[in-house]
Amino acid sequence: MNLILFGPPGAGKGTQAKRLVEQRGMVQLSTGDMLRAAIASGSELGQKVKGVLDRGDLVTDEIVIALIEERLPEAEAAGGAIFDGFPRTVAQAQALDVMLAKRGQKIDSVVRLEVDEPALIERITKRYAEQGRSDDNPETFVNRLARYNADTAPLLPYYREQGKLVEVDGMGAVEAVAASIDATLTVVA
Ligand code: AMP
Repeated sequence: MNLILFGPPGAGKGTQAKRLVEQRGMVQLSTGDMLRAAIASGSELGQKVKGVLDRGDLVTDEIVIALIEERLPEAEAAGGAIFDGFPRTVAQAQALDVMLAKRGQKIDSVVRLEVDEPALIERITKRYAEQGRSDDNPETFVNRLARYNADTAPLLPYYREQGKLVEVDGMGAVEAVAASIDATLTVVA
């Protein structure tokens, strides 16, 4: 099963993806994690994208599509991928559909975690204080949210039209959100 966890920054995608990995043995494919690892390693790619992440802008479609394509065989061998933070543009979503189709695969479900903006801001302020992730600072976060609304939210109709979009209330405790996600996946499986 291939699943997309969808939602704005701070919606809980990473937290829920990690839980699904533990419980189902699927592979989490987080382009944000991949890009941060590239930056930490000091690679050419890392040097190229550092400023983009620091500003809260989106890196090019080409870069993230290549990162994902590289990891698809591994996810397939594990029984499926949980896409976290990818796709973020319609072009990325179209490329993902093509890459999966070439492998005889598809996206089975797109789980949208719905969290309102005041709650997102509260969560990110807390995460910034606790973890100090540089792009969680208030100015950058506002830009990440703007990018989500402008570039990523248009994916909702894309997946709704494909009949793949399920909406989950992401406002509750981690366990409650997990239970809601699992309930939608029982229907898919
Ligand atoms: P995330 O950890 O998913 O919040 O991603 C952190 C940052 O990495 C984003 O603010 C973007 O700068 C970059 N990034 C991650 N995934 C993508 C993507 N699919 N497309 C473009 N940029 C991305």
